[in-house]
Amino acid sequence: MNMQSPMRGATHLECSLTGQRVESERLVGLSAAGKPLFARYDLEALRGSFTREAMSGRRADLWRYAEVLPVRDLAARICLGEGWTPLLDAPRTAARLGVRRVWIKEEGQNPTGSFKARGLCIAVSRALELGARELALPSAGNAGSAAAAYGAAAGLPVHVVVPSDTPVPILEEIRALGADLQMIDGLITDCGRVVRRGVEEHGWFDLSTLKEPYRIEGKKTMGYELVEQLDGRLPDAIVYPTGGGTGLIGMWKAFEEMQTLGWIGPERPKMFTVQAAGCAPIVRAWEEGRTDAGVWEGARTYASGLRVPSAVGDFLMIRVLRESGGGAVAVSDDAMAEWVDRLGADTGVFAAPEGGAAAAAVPILLERGMIAADDEVVLFNTGSGLKYVGMVPQD
Ligand SMILES: *Cc1c(COP(=O)(O)O)cnc(C)c1O
Repeated sequence: MNMQSPMRGATHLECSLTGQRVESERLVGLSAAGKPLFARYDLEALRGSFTREAMSGRRADLWRYAEVLPVRDLAARICLGEGWTPLLDAPRTAARLGVRRVWIKEEGQNPTGSFKARGLCIAVSRALELGARELALPSAGNAGSAAAAYGAAAGLPVHVVVPSDTPVPILEEIRALGADLQMIDGLITDCGRVVRRGVEEHGWFDLSTLKEPYRIEGKKTMGYELVEQLDGRLPDAIVYPTGGGTGLIGMWKAFEEMQTLGWIGPERPKMFTVQAAGCAPIVRAWEEGRTDAGVWEGARTYASGLRVPSAVGDFLMIRVLRESGGGAVAVSDDAMAEWVDRLGADTGVFAAPEGGAAAAAVPILLERGMIAADDEVVLFNTGSGLKYVGMVPQD
């Protein structure tokens, strides 16, 4: 560790279940309890200097939040222009949905066309800093292309294992970005087994969602951006298309950090998970009042980012939904596709099916009284529709 660093940065890691403290200056995966590790910072020391006002004039990418990111070495901060995406006011969508105000957080503008860039930017940068030689991950598609991009930018080899029916534009992208691409007849969970073998046999460093501590640090920057872009305010509700849950868990962590930093008070938005009707483990667990989700059998949806049949962070997602007063709903592929077209025509944003899912959830949330007509709602469009061209709804 560079003790001369002007900034202390991350101080340690902490098990998200047991609170066990873990040293952060070496490559690590899950905690001893087999749960995700959270990066911790000396936020008290940053209070007063790392303020929302101090952000103005900073670089227009996620490295504007360097003080609350884990990478110390400036040379290890890989950048392809990720983050600081537009928050678009969408009055016609608001009118169509019947809520006071709708904002679209337009994550399709990230490098590699999805918000996976945020998480992989930080995870690859930190792995580079800590001496990883070869990176690997299972992916439903977008994480694979983001890992390939940041691996290429870092000069590190990346092994990506995806289901063979991943959207073709994403497969082409992963190949063009120089990664070793393996396709499996199966789901992301099956791909995970192939990666684990490579980890054991070849010493690859595993970048799976929440199985290393830093993808969540990249995704949390969406929470910081929302507060900045809404001039210190938080919306009433956030509707988030959820697979592994990194963004949901990450934003919640960001809100807690920002409260300690003095950027916001104790107020929080209601957090809503949206999943595909053909793969909805978190929705099922939520409706059954469980704290973990188990495995969803026979997962099916054309929203590849939502085709995640089991998630290591399930208990963390459910905790966020509960603490925020939010909830979870499932929508059909057909509804996603309809809302992709409505969003497109109303706003000029060509959304991924996952973005369509966020919009499609709002009428259900209104009907159930989980969102009010007077609410200000942020919908996440998590990727570009261009990555799914040729894919059709599966229900
Ligand atoms: C991965 C992905 C999701 C799900 O994100 P999580 O933070 O892992 O829940 C949603 N949309 C798209 C386009 C994705 O690639």
